[in-house]
Formats: sequence, structure tokens, C-alpha cells
Amino acid sequence: MSKKQFKAESKRLLEMMINSIYTHKEVFLRELLSNASDAIDKIYYKALTDDALSFNKDNYFIKLIPDQANRSLKILDTGIGMTKEELENNLGTIAKSGSLAFKKENEIKDGYDIIGQFGVGFYAAFMVADVVTVISKALGSDEAYKWESTGADGYTIEPVEKDSVGTEVILKIKENTEDENYDEYLQEYRLKSIIKKYSDFIRYPIKMDVTSNRLKEGSESEYEDYQEEQIINSMVPIWKKNKSELTDADYENFYSEKRYGFDKPIKHIHISVEGSIRYNAILYIPEKTPFDFYSKEFEKGLELYSNGVLIMEKCADLLPDHFSFVKGMVDSEDLSLNISREMLQHDRQLKLIAKNINKNIKSELLSLQRKEREKYEEFYQSFGRQLKYGVYNDFGANKELLQDLIMFYSSKEKKLVTLDEYVSRMPEDQKYIYYASGESIDRIEKLPQAEFVSEKGYEILYFTEDIDEFAIKMLMNYKEKEFKSISSGDLGIEGEDTKDESEANEKENKELFDFMKNILADKVKDVRISKRLKSHPVCLATEGEISIEMEKILAMMPN
Ligand code: ADP
Ligand code: MG
Repeated sequence: MSKKQFKAESKRLLEMMINSIYTHKEVFLRELLSNASDAIDKIYYKALTDDALSFNKDNYFIKLIPDQANRSLKILDTGIGMTKEELENNLGTIAKSGSLAFKKENEIKDGYDIIGQFGVGFYAAFMVADVVTVISKALGSDEAYKWESTGADGYTIEPVEKDSVGTEVILKIKENTEDENYDEYLQEYRLKSIIKKYSDFIRYPIKMDVTSNRLKEGSESEYEDYQEEQIINSMVPIWKKNKSELTDADYENFYSEKRYGFDKPIKHIHISVEGSIRYNAILYIPEKTPFDFYSKEFEKGLELYSNGVLIMEKCADLLPDHFSFVKGMVDSEDLSLNISREMLQHDRQLKLIAKNINKNIKSELLSLQRKEREKYEEFYQSFGRQLKYGVYNDFGANKELLQDLIMFYSSKEKKLVTLDEYVSRMPEDQKYIYYASGESIDRIEKLPQAEFVSEKGYEILYFTEDIDEFAIKMLMNYKEKEFKSISSGDLGIEGEDTKDESEANEKENKELFDFMKNILADKVKDVRISKRLKSHPVCLATEGEISIEMEKILAMMPN
């Protein structure tokens, strides 16, 4: 039996594809600029092996020319261009990528900058344009050709005059509709911001004539508009620069330029990894808690770049919840992107990067804690709660990672201390790590039991946040020392009431205790004599694992 080919309504397919793969129309520009950059890269690669060809970086650029009067936007490049056949093959065949083929043909293994691979990006132009015209002259060819299409009903190709090698893509921008504004794609300001957002780190200059204002010559008060060619993109991303060349100010500028926050970061972390997976990352520990940080609205995530092109603005999978406050970006050459280049095909690489980043952040925080305590305390004021949630969440899966980062106020030091510091100061006869829960430091200091433990010379950690005790319950112990609430029944301290003693005492005062129990019948389980009291007449104690403070919180939680 002879096999039949599938027939496809290419018109419909094209429409469906264009309108379903991209979330934002503005990415059309990212796609066209990526193609232009690829086209220049191809000359660069050819020059590497072809002696007749020299590559002088200064001659290569991309230029954007918006023309509001004619509703056209031209993207011009000085790249390798396309022959008639290439126009036909690459732009006339959906899902055919000349760039991918180029990488294979030229055996560019670490094809480190060529972006194209799926052969669909170009058609994104139809999201914003009614007509797309491509005028191209290929390297080594005397002829130039014009390809033109209105998207739905095919394309035409005809010879045309063009002096220089390269390609011009001309978009006839759509008219505004009720719910869609297309005018913006002709506005300098908007175009600039799209370039900055997605294509800031394209390696070649992206130029545009930008209108500015200046004082008229000879005048002191009259201004005039003038046009000036500007390079819009930064080209070399900060994360590809050598760490030794960068100053704190450079990192801070990048932080505010990228609007990671309006504060000044406490610390930056610059990671470059060359291994089974290559990536660069610049991460920041912010100083201030974002206003929505502890709310449902807060979205964690890092920017994800593939070869300098923005893929995702907030990639949540790169950050564990306990470090959700971290800001910054990751750039990798090794990501397998899906067709829209907004997502990844496999998350294996991402998981690997996330794992490394997790470890990196932890060790940086630890070094901050050890070397720059004041800064760490500042950080801890803002985000300590998140770390404690991290200890508690996921059934304590991250407790090992986080236990050294958490701190509590100490009765002895009158400031935040780490568990390690606490344990290393413990007198030999002290069995437990003692803590006390309460609304505030003040209130805890007035607890009758605190007096007893402190007089023994033992340090007490004050738990003033509702998460504290829950986190510690998950931790269970630190360096083999168990945690003990000072209001628990058995404190493991000598001189404390033993069961026999209190029973004897209780017998002696049976009448009094029975009387008290009767009055407090629905409030307490038992009334006992205690030796823990110093200047206070009475205190509350619990027997089980749940402290009075925890009970209060649990009672407040919705079921
Ligand atoms: P991709 O970039 O994923 O290959 P596109 O649909 O964006 O897919 O482009 C299809 C092909 O068209 C590219 O692979 C390339 O061969 C060719 N092409 C597109 N734009 C240009 C350009 N400005 N200069 C040279 N070739 C181009
Ligand atoms: Mg492309």
C-alpha cells in the first residue's frame, strides 16, 4: 500500500501556531532580533574557518527603524543574509530552522551563541503585522531578493536591488483594535523597553535613532527635537564579565536597573559554573522585606536567560521556598527550551542548577553570619521568619540545611544567637537547650520559670514568633541536645521537684490542693507543689509535648 502524506491547512496551522505559542505579543521583537544576531554570528563562524573572510566586529550591527507615518517597523541587520533558495526554505517552510542546520553543518558543538533552533520564531512577526517583507542579500551573492507575505495566503519572492549584504525585515504594523494596542510597537520608548527586557545582552549593537531635546543653537530658552543614533542594548551581560573587573557598585546598579528591588542589596552572589551543566548566576540577598513578601501575592523566582536572551521572568523552580527572598538571574547555554522559548522541555538541567544554587545561598548566608554579623542580623530581621518556616515545612526535609542559619534571642547575650553558639557555651551539667515562648522578650523575662533556669546559670532562647516553637519541634535536637521548654514538667535540672517529693508534699497539703483543684476544675488538670519558683508564687506548666503557646496558636488556626 502506498503511504499518503498528511494534508495540512497551512493557513490555519500558521494562525493557530502564532496565536497559541506565545503569551506576549511583544516577543516578536525578541525573535526577530535573535534571528538578526544569529545571522551576524554565522558570518563570525564562517570567518573562523575561511581565511578569505575577516570579521571586524565594528562593522556588524542591528538597527531598528520605526516609521509612525507609514506604520512600519524595519529591523535591519548586517548578517549573512539569505539567497533566494534560503528565503524559500527557511521562511517558506514552517518549523524549518536554517540556524539549526548551520550549527550541524559547521559542527559548531558549543554553538555557543546561535539562538535559533525551531524554525518558528520568525512567524511571531504576524502577531503584530499584517504584511511582512524581507529583503535580503546573501554573503557572496550579487543578487538580492524580496520575500513578502500577509501570513495567511502564502508568500511571493522577487528580485530586488540591495547594496549591502544582510537582511531587512519590514513589518506593516496592524491597526489598533478595541482590545489590542499595536501603535506601541512604533514608539521609540516602548521599543527601547522591549529591547532592554529581552535582548539587552545580544552581543551586537542594536541601534535606533532616538529623539532627544536640546537647546536651540544661539537661544537660551528655545528647545528643539533632534534625532541621534543610540545603542540600546548593553551587549555584554554583567554575568559574563570577570568578577575581578566588577565593583560592588556594578552589582548594585544591575540590581536597581533590573528592578529586583528598590532597596540596596545586603549581598550579591556571583556564580560561574563550567561543568556538566554550564551556567552563570547573579543572586542578591535584599535588605528589606518586600511589602507583599509574607502574603499570597508574593511570587518567588529568578530570571532565566538562555544565552543572554530572557526566557522567563520568574522561574519559580530555581528557588526553594526557604530562600524565596533571593532575587537575581540565571543564564545557561545548556537549557532545552520548548518551542515558544518561554519554557523548558526537560527540567533535569533546571533541577541541577536549583540544587547548586540552594547550596550556594546557604553557604553565602553562613559566611555572612560568621563574618559580617551585623549585616546578617539585618537580613535576619527581614527574612528570618522565612528560614524558620523552611525548617518546619516539608516535614523538616530542609532542617539540616537551615538549622545553622536560624537565630533566637538569648537570655544571656541579650541579642540573637545561633544554636551553635548556644551549644558551645553550655555548662557541662546542662542537658537540654532551654527555650521559653511568649509574646515578647519582656513578657518572657517575667515568666516565673525563667528565673529558675537562669539562676542555674543556663541560657534560655526566647521564642517570640509563632513559628519558632513549631520549627524547633521539627528540628527535635541540635548537636544531639534536645530542646526543652522551660514550662515543661520535667526540666532535667537538679534541685527540681521530684515526683516522690511532690507527692509527699501534696499529701501534707492535701486539703489546700483539693480546694484549689476544685475551683480551677475546668482550667487546669492538676495543682502541684513546685521548687522552681523564686520570686513568683505560682506558675503554669505543661506535661505533654505541646506548650501553652503552641496550644494558643493551634486554637487560633482554622481547621
Ligand atoms: P529559528 O531562528 O528557530 O531557526 P525562525 O523562524 O526564527 O527559526 O527563522 C527561520 C530561519 O530563517 C532561521 O533559521 C534562519 O535560517 C532564517 N532567518 C531568519 N531571519 C534571518 C535573518 N535576519 N538573516 C538571515 N537568516 C534569517
Ligand atoms: Mg529565530
